[in-house]
Amino acid sequence: MQIPFNKPYLTGRETAYLQQAFANLQFAGDGPFTRSSSKAIEELLGCRRALLTPSCTHALEMAALLLEIKPGDEVIVPSFTFVSTVNAFVLRGAKPVFIDVRPDTLNFDERQFEALITPRTRAAVVMHYAGISCEMDTIGEIASRRGVALVEDNAHGFGARYRGRPLGTLGCLGTLSFHETKNLSCGEGGALIVNQPELLARAEIIREKGTDRSRFNRGEVDKYSWVDVGSSYVMGDILAAFLFAQLEEFESIQSRRRARWERYHSGLLGLRESAGVSLPTVPAECGQAYHLFYLLTRTAAERTRLIAHLKARGIHAVFHYVPLHASAMGRRLGGRAGQCPVTEDISDRLVRLPFFNVLGAEEQDFVIAQVREFYGA
Ligand SMILES: *Cc1c(COP(=O)(O)O)cnc(C)c1O
Repeated sequence: MQIPFNKPYLTGRETAYLQQAFANLQFAGDGPFTRSSSKAIEELLGCRRALLTPSCTHALEMAALLLEIKPGDEVIVPSFTFVSTVNAFVLRGAKPVFIDVRPDTLNFDERQFEALITPRTRAAVVMHYAGISCEMDTIGEIASRRGVALVEDNAHGFGARYRGRPLGTLGCLGTLSFHETKNLSCGEGGALIVNQPELLARAEIIREKGTDRSRFNRGEVDKYSWVDVGSSYVMGDILAAFLFAQLEEFESIQSRRRARWERYHSGLLGLRESAGVSLPTVPAECGQAYHLFYLLTRTAAERTRLIAHLKARGIHAVFHYVPLHASAMGRRLGGRAGQCPVTEDISDRLVRLPFFNVLGAEEQDFVIAQVREFYGA
């Protein structure tokens, strides 16, 4: 048996919507399927505006442009995240100030936030690891009291909630990813969630190469022209058609993922006591997105052995983020080893198990059995 780490998922409607998109003869962005997909996201999140982008990375770049991040500005970012969370701001000349994560949720440690704020701090970016929310009440309170813009990189947490409120709607801007590895996908894609109404007009302009073409498309102006800085941050309508098929199946995709997450959790729970393995912590106030399932082994060496043990049995388990503060680029930007000790520790011990919408029950039981066998349980 070979069990991959991820397998892309088709809901079944993609082909029909792609054919319809071909028949529409509107392949550029903001066509009929872009409108349907944006509307579906806005309804699912109860947000004012979701702008489809070619990727989450592009949505993060738009966030940095919208917040007018300039050279010398400081942006507080987790070290335990994907490079784009940070790169988008570094592209504008910002200095990343790396914050450590909590040892339980592996999220932005709100207890360290305020001490990192300086007169140069312009923004903080949270990332909800595994689709389990950061402690947003505390983070939001500190950010608003200290005048720091709050951005949510919600690539993992589409559909997740914090105290009942959808992730991606809690900062002034939020981003989503529809990359092949995410819960819902169109191969490559993303969205910018604009929660602060004052940012919306400019978000549309930045996304449309610095022009007021969005207003022109709505018939609000009779020609469009260059009005601001911008770039090409629009998703094409063919990808939006593919995405719409996935958005329509949001509930069923999430329930598939929930069932698989719970099967792993109950199958491996015993290892917490018997083998000292840590399983994900989901605080009571978090309705999670079931984006991934991870374990923390006791040591880095144990992780290497566990991954090899599973690989020998055809199971592809993988580690995750390498700490950004200690990376080659992170060090050039002022990061230093020892700066985020929890991140350094957990990133060495984390293993993600195969997790995807069509992971079979027998396959999953095989993974569980092999992990338990490794621990002699
Ligand atoms: C996947 C991911 C991204 C990047 O998403 P793209 O759509 O591939 O640009 C950014 N941040 C996090 C946390 C991610 O997991």
